[in-house]
Amino acid sequence: MEKNPFRSPGRWFRGNTHTHSTRSDGRVSVAGRFEAYREKGYDFLVLTDHGKVSDISAFTDNTFLAISGSELHPENPYGGATYHLVALDLHEPIDVAGMHPNEVIQAVHAQGGHVIIAHPYWCGHTLFDLLPLEGGFAVEVYNDTCAGIGKEISEVQWDDLLDRGKRLLGIACDDAHGTEHDCFHGWVMVKSEELTREAILEALLKGCYYSTTGPEILDLDLVETERDGQPARKVVVRTSPARSIVFKAQRYFGRRCLPPEGGLLEYAEYTLHGSERYVRVEVTDAEGRKAWTNPFFLD
Ligand SMILES: [Zn+2]
Ligand SMILES: [Zn+2]
Repeated sequence: MEKNPFRSPGRWFRGNTHTHSTRSDGRVSVAGRFEAYREKGYDFLVLTDHGKVSDISAFTDNTFLAISGSELHPENPYGGATYHLVALDLHEPIDVAGMHPNEVIQAVHAQGGHVIIAHPYWCGHTLFDLLPLEGGFAVEVYNDTCAGIGKEISEVQWDDLLDRGKRLLGIACDDAHGTEHDCFHGWVMVKSEELTREAILEALLKGCYYSTTGPEILDLDLVETERDGQPARKVVVRTSPARSIVFKAQRYFGRRCLPPEGGLLEYAEYTLHGSERYVRVEVTDAEGRKAWTNPFFLD
């Protein structure tokens, strides 16, 4: 992350970055979606209908932010299935027919928008498909609707990309199509001084947030310490009660922290060996729900 949310001013805003309505294959109207998320206590919602962009300006007020977007499906020239690219802050539809996926990402950027690589596990995407992509800022590490086939978690795909030097953040989202089974289960907690489109998007781009399906992250930092008498750094994290806290880095670096038998953890730390290129944290609570921090990029 470029900006540690736990060392940045502001308050927390809860949001979902991936949602469908009856304008594509969702079962709820545009207005119904915004109403439902607002009622559930969310602060912002991005509408991302397949190939469509809707005018959502009527749904923003002082306490709730509506962001326009779209989900785009360029063909895959690398042998795998069609891409699913979530575009945030998109204002005009893009006809992706015949476009290379990177041309689509550039077309989103040309409108001032930003791209998330959606649910790679569900797409069956591997590094063959994902490494050639240039310009996305995040990967969906959790996509709730993909739980329907047990492929909601794309941690391996994210780590594979991080291991190869891609600086990508993680996002948990619903990808809501229905009314219950894929709603309100995966979200981001964004730290921002204001609930405005500019402030929330900047916080997302800088990694000033964490992703969760339930557990809370209460503090996270990279601090000075010693290892074998030499100056070193460690990642420290405090969380809501957890059955495991895992620090992940490239290859075989990292550490899993477990509580004493029958207990739960609320703190863990990992002293860096010095060769880690990134470190991120995964938290699992007693019910199996998870949270993910963004990576500290160390080189
Ligand atoms: Zn999709
Ligand atoms: Zn979708």
